[in-house]
Amino acid sequence: MTFATLGLIEPLLRSLEKLGYQTPTPVQAQAIPAVLAGRDLMAAAQTGTGKTAGFALPLLQLLAMEGPKVAANSVRALILVPTRELAEQVHEAVRQYAENLPLRTYAVYGGVSINPQMMKLRGGVDLLVATPGRLLDLFRQKALKFNQLQTLVLDEADRMLDLGFSEELSNIYRALPKKRQTLLFSATFSDDIRLLAGQMLDDPLTVEVSPRNVAANTVKQWIVTVDKKRKAELFVHLMRKNKWKQVLVFAKTRNGVDALVEKLQGLGVNADGIHGDKPQATRQRALDRFKLSEVQILVATDVAARGLDIEDLPLVINFDLPIVAEDYIHRIGRTGRAGATGEAISLVCADEVNMLSAIEMLTRQTLKRQNEPDFEPEHRVPDTDASGQVIKKPKKPKKPKASGGGGKRNLGKWVDSGETQAPEPSVKPVRKVPVFNTGPRKRKP
Ligand code: AMP
Repeated sequence: MTFATLGLIEPLLRSLEKLGYQTPTPVQAQAIPAVLAGRDLMAAAQTGTGKTAGFALPLLQLLAMEGPKVAANSVRALILVPTRELAEQVHEAVRQYAENLPLRTYAVYGGVSINPQMMKLRGGVDLLVATPGRLLDLFRQKALKFNQLQTLVLDEADRMLDLGFSEELSNIYRALPKKRQTLLFSATFSDDIRLLAGQMLDDPLTVEVSPRNVAANTVKQWIVTVDKKRKAELFVHLMRKNKWKQVLVFAKTRNGVDALVEKLQGLGVNADGIHGDKPQATRQRALDRFKLSEVQILVATDVAARGLDIEDLPLVINFDLPIVAEDYIHRIGRTGRAGATGEAISLVCADEVNMLSAIEMLTRQTLKRQNEPDFEPEHRVPDTDASGQVIKKPKKPKKPKASGGGGKRNLGKWVDSGETQAPEPSVKPVRKVPVFNTGPRKRKP
């Protein structure tokens, strides 16, 4: 199969040739003809499967072949994404695909001045990539109108709900024309997303190119158990021992990112961090330098790292496990992209056992454990498996009391005894599913 047989026009084929895309990926093979035919789409695809081209190529073709010239302050196709970085990345891909087409494309997101964005929108934009908050700001300030909108794409829709964008999504929906084509893309599909899709999509084609919620099998994954307080030390030890060259590290909190970066920089390691508290320009610079291998270790929170496409990234480290199990799949999807092999190592402490168990259940695998000599944890991480069970070893039988009363209770060795906290429960943020108008929607003819 080739891109030409999928019905793509010559200007797009030329761009793809320049980019070196030879064969459509499975998600592209299914999505491109369906989108060209005007169908609504609900697509679950692993990260790194080429889903961006799967929606962007046919969308650009429809915009180039059909419809009126874009009017002032109008937009004909809208791609909503959860983060600024993803907006930049998707727009960069769109720009490359659209190189030979007379279309105007643009990306808007928060964290940067709104005025240049308002100026740019004056002339109208055929395809706009946007984060929900900034899009609404622009709409409310009358810099944007949606009456020409023919297609809406929700990229990483599950993440938008996770990040609490449900309110913004509802408000955006209310402002959109009812007749439109809607494409919903997500690396993972939770039940909330399926519910949302039921409200938003009109007779959608469902595309699922990999089993639900299974991480890319090109990524070798294992965990190293360690005490919480020794994680940074273990990280440095493994980095030196294995001579890691380019590593993306995920930490749970902004403070966690800063602390690890500071420690690494203090040891003379070329490290930088990205998280939501840092200005957009600083985040982008750190990312660009990491991509150019000018930064060796990039430490990030989930929000900042979402959807980053870094070619040939060999290694992802989970310094902390993610609170939401689906994020594990997104994180390790940064490596092993487009068929390359990669490694994902998680440093797991006893507090994280429930998160580990949730990840194993979601990915339907028991992660291999490797102990690092001299770093065996004092607080043992209980065994887990893909059934979602934390396997508790039976308590040792009580010794018969020599004399009445006062004997010390034997709590068994496997659990954290009184000297440490019990493992945290795995907290899943409550996701509000927005309620949208459910009237009939058809793409404008
Ligand atoms: P995505 O899943 O959209 O983030 O894409 C992952 C990576 O695969 C990106 O670097 C794309 O440029 C690349 N890619 C997408 N489709 C193809 C293809 N058909 N052939 C080769 N590379 C591709």
